[in-house]
Amino acid sequence: MNFFRPITVTTLWLCLLFSSSSWAETELQDTSPQVLRGNWFYHWGDLPKDQTSGQWQYHQAKWTKTEFPENLQGRQGKNILWVKIDLPSGNWRDPYLFISAADLTMEVFHKRQEIYHFGKIDAQGNSRFEGWPWHIFHLPNDYDQHTLYFRIFSDYPSIGLSGEASIGNRFNLLDEIYGSGIAGLSFILVVLLVGIISTIMGTIKKDRAVAVSTGMLSFNLAIMMFSENELSQVVLFEPLFWRYVAAFSYFLIPAFLSIIVLAWLKETPPAIARKVLIITLVFALGVAALSAFTTFNFVNAYPYFDVLFIILVLALLSGCKKLFYQQGLPGILMAFGILTLFISLLLDMLSAHGLITWIGHAGQWGLILFTLASLMIYLVQDWQQQIALNTLTQQLESKVLIRTAELQASQNKLEKLAREDYLTTLLNRRAFTERAIEEVANAIRHQRPISLLLFDLDHFKDVNDQYGHAIGDQVLKAIASTSKETCRNGELICRYGGEEFVILLHDTDTEFAKSLATRLCNAIKEIEIKTDNKPIKVTASFGVISLNYSEPYKGSPEKVVEGLLAEADKMMYEVKIAGRDGVKSLEITLDHLIGT
Ligand code: GH3
Ligand code: MG
Ligand code: MG
Repeated sequence: MNFFRPITVTTLWLCLLFSSSSWAETELQDTSPQVLRGNWFYHWGDLPKDQTSGQWQYHQAKWTKTEFPENLQGRQGKNILWVKIDLPSGNWRDPYLFISAADLTMEVFHKRQEIYHFGKIDAQGNSRFEGWPWHIFHLPNDYDQHTLYFRIFSDYPSIGLSGEASIGNRFNLLDEIYGSGIAGLSFILVVLLVGIISTIMGTIKKDRAVAVSTGMLSFNLAIMMFSENELSQVVLFEPLFWRYVAAFSYFLIPAFLSIIVLAWLKETPPAIARKVLIITLVFALGVAALSAFTTFNFVNAYPYFDVLFIILVLALLSGCKKLFYQQGLPGILMAFGILTLFISLLLDMLSAHGLITWIGHAGQWGLILFTLASLMIYLVQDWQQQIALNTLTQQLESKVLIRTAELQASQNKLEKLAREDYLTTLLNRRAFTERAIEEVANAIRHQRPISLLLFDLDHFKDVNDQYGHAIGDQVLKAIASTSKETCRNGELICRYGGEEFVILLHDTDTEFAKSLATRLCNAIKEIEIKTDNKPIKVTASFGVISLNYSEPYKGSPEKVVEGLLAEADKMMYEVKIAGRDGVKSLEITLDHLIGT
């Protein structure tokens, strides 16, 4: 028994699988909507009406067969078209008829009963434009037993049905409509997003005109796309309102385009862009005024606008060709964007006039490409500006660096000059005093020996008087270099004034200071300055003072420096009195020095 069990189960499974798949197939066949093509008939002009019964005389008409009642031949100025179809049978539980659009108003009859109407058509066959919504209406249960008749009115260039007509369950039909609406919505969202990004960037950045105008065009396109989207009439069933919105947002496209071009080429605004702007505005305002105050219907402006649109956009493109070319990448993008927009709208236009068949989402793709291109233009321009700004900043920075270095150098030079004696390049009195105070303070802090040496050239006035000032200067320079050679590196050597010099010797006691003074005194005697006659020789008188410490000193180092100079001067003066050319030294305690 157990042996047969798997076989039974498998057979059962297979049966189930087979029956369920065939069931699904039948279900699919029966309920999916069916497009109505190939079984249509039409008749130009109104049908006769029976005066007593008030019934349309369908059988008195001569009907012509057609694939679909769209772009029919032989209209001859007729504003009424009758259309009929025998609907196919199907297993639709909830049969509805869907029509993409009708040009323009219509009444639908079944078994001589009006089962649907859009707009009103009077007995004389007159009606008014009510918009271009999609239509869906319920069919009676015996719809496939009798013919369905359409009485269609249009004073517009096209008359009849457009797009497609299909029969199916209401749910399935709506599913298709909403699906296509949602697909369209995604295009709108991209365009809207680009518009928002452009506007936000335009508001943040400085050069906002291009970005804001691009944003405005994107919003305009998004509005136009939404008013033509299947879902707009679900949100608000006002087909005429949506048509107004669609028409005027379409009529204004060249205006927005020229505003972008004008904002973008503001340095050399092309005259053609201004002309396009004015013509577009005049056209839109004219159409608005005509349809408000006369019997003119604004939808009749569509064919004129289509022609105008082609002329204006081509004029704009050819008029700005050179300017676009000069702009480099943004120019190419701009030309590409306008061209894409132009082609996509042209395709839409051709399909609306029945010159080409359904173009899918080509138009919407075109609009997206255009808005993306215009956003790219802004980004590229911004990027180029950033680069230019960066180069400029870099140039400026390097200029600032060079200037700063120059300034620093001249400042250093000035400082050096302010601290240097112009003739000998030794420290001048001010610089010496400043640094001597620091050195003395340091020496006192660490109780280290320090000495000061002051010398004055003997009878220098005579040198000047005898050989002239220039030779005197040469002597002074020679004294300076001899002093430098004789002293250790880092000693403060100063031309204190005229022919008087001071040297501060750090870490130097009396003995060393005295010996250095003697050495320098002898070195000066060795100096020979060549003249026309015999060489000049000079001598100097030296006063040397060395500091000793008894107890810590808390007073000011300035006073100590002053004291040291005064004491050294005294010593030097004593040498002068004693006959010049010699050294006299003194070791002095800090207390004594300050006390004196
Ligand atoms: P004494 O031995 O008493 O110091 O006599 P002296 O002539 O050197 O003294 P005095 O003060 O009378 O003269 C100093 C001279 O130094 C007067 C001035 O012409 C000269 N002298 C001062 N500065 C300069 C200078 O920069 N260049 C030259 N060539 N001479 C200067
Ligand atoms: Mg002197
Ligand atoms: Mg002198």
